[in-house]
Amino acid sequence: MLRRIGGLFGAVLLLTGVAGCARRGPEAGQDASQAAGTTVYVAARVRTLDADRPVVTALAVREGKVLATGTKEEVLAAAGEGARVVDLGDATVVPGLTDSHGHLAGLGGGLVSVDLEGTPTKAEAVARVTGAPQTAYQGEWLIGNGWDQNDWPEKAFPSRTELDAKYPTTPVALTRVDGHALWVNSEALRRAKIGRDTKDPAGGRILRGPDGEPTGVLVDNAMDLVFAVLPPPSEAQHEARLRAALERCAKAGLTGVHDAGMDLRTFRLLQRWDAEGKLPLRVYAMADGQTAERETYLKDGPFQGKMLTLRAVKLMLDGALGSRGAALHKDYSDEPGHKGLLLLSPEEYERRAAAFMGKGFQVCTHAIGDRANTLVLDALTRAAEATGSKDGRHRVEHAQVMRLEDIDRLGKNGFIASVQPTHATSDMPWAEARVGPERIRGAYAWQRLKASGAVLALGSDFPVEHPDVLGGLYAARTRQDVQGQPSAGWYADQRLSGQEALEGFTVGAAYASFAEGQRGRLKPGMDADFVALSVDPVDAPPAALPGAQVRLTVVAGAEVYRAPGT
Ligand SMILES: [Zn+2]
Repeated sequence: MLRRIGGLFGAVLLLTGVAGCARRGPEAGQDASQAAGTTVYVAARVRTLDADRPVVTALAVREGKVLATGTKEEVLAAAGEGARVVDLGDATVVPGLTDSHGHLAGLGGGLVSVDLEGTPTKAEAVARVTGAPQTAYQGEWLIGNGWDQNDWPEKAFPSRTELDAKYPTTPVALTRVDGHALWVNSEALRRAKIGRDTKDPAGGRILRGPDGEPTGVLVDNAMDLVFAVLPPPSEAQHEARLRAALERCAKAGLTGVHDAGMDLRTFRLLQRWDAEGKLPLRVYAMADGQTAERETYLKDGPFQGKMLTLRAVKLMLDGALGSRGAALHKDYSDEPGHKGLLLLSPEEYERRAAAFMGKGFQVCTHAIGDRANTLVLDALTRAAEATGSKDGRHRVEHAQVMRLEDIDRLGKNGFIASVQPTHATSDMPWAEARVGPERIRGAYAWQRLKASGAVLALGSDFPVEHPDVLGGLYAARTRQDVQGQPSAGWYADQRLSGQEALEGFTVGAAYASFAEGQRGRLKPGMDADFVALSVDPVDAPPAALPGAQVRLTVVAGAEVYRAPGT
């Protein structure tokens, strides 16, 4: 927790620094020579992902763009006299890494509230709640996140009673690690007016005990009953959260983030920061298509700023596998009679998808269960035809459990698979129990998706997983946990090579955001977004990745993160 609060204050410094960098850029070429505004970075290796010169040792940056790549001598000659030279020693430079699916506001909220991730027991989770810092309160509500009953010995959902003992009058709301379940106390249930007679909302479940009383766990749409009465964060809290999130991402080596479902308030704040030159990373926003705010987004249409783009919408069709909310064609293998939940009716989903396509938006749909994936492909194919949407690059977010014929259809129809390598390694202990030995073949099936012709855009789904992209590259290459288990890799035939994994976080992400002409590779004229790592993510043994270091993160030529000692 202390480390995370430290991050919050660090973020303020970072943003101030970035504003300074951004102002310096345009001065180049005014009175000084062009070369004076040029920086040459020299490293052991620069992986450009440019087919003409895939591995070089230097690159020059001018006015936010790549000026040249090549040997040190070639690049110095291209830069001219007086260029600043930065020697990155034994580092490997790669094109800017982009997380294709994350949630900035959620990450920031987690960074400043009670962190329950990795708690080995329920008692430890409750102990962390009672040690909450002041920043964990939102109005009178005590907020936390990150618990996972699968980490606890009893592997059962918690209940309100454990919280009631310590918090009889303070409402407490704790989000599950996947964001699809909420653990609350009795006071929170009272304020949300949830009692034994409250019906489950469509697409949600209020878990109940044998006595019919709510247990204190709300799944999927039932969480909204609590969110509806939760006071919003103050302006200062909101800004602090976003700053903390952006700083955390820059530190993780990310130069860009695709925000998978941005609320309007966050979008307005980032628009303001972008206009003021205070947005340190590139943010490709998907408008939140789930709430009533979608009407405003639809009316305003896509937006293109300097660092901020909004031209996609995020829709959610089902829940998650962990909480058995993912919509399956057939029963859960470990819960007969239960097939999961659709969060929108297929008709309503298709209506929304078509409305946004008609306005020029890319449609990005959360689909985890095989039934949700079938419905998305059916609807997107029809809607794209009906609206004449060409090169829509519509995306399936997660594409997690799919029928093999649907995997084939995804690629053939030009849809993008936005997948998260660390979901596979987090879910592997229990995923097969949920879906059984047959359906697992189409689950987290990255090579099958690639074979279908689909572009893979890789991400983490932070804050569900950590935003650390080195961990994502490791999971993609190994399909093992950080202890190296299982030793042969989990369904290892679906692993990605080092090159494929790197491409997924660079060129794949760029293509998925219509930016392949500007980003994803380091070529003259393209944006100077890159990262210096202590390891080569392609050729180093994968085991070296989790402990490796991000040394420098550069966005549009501005150094937005530099590791201490670099
Ligand atoms: Zn997500």
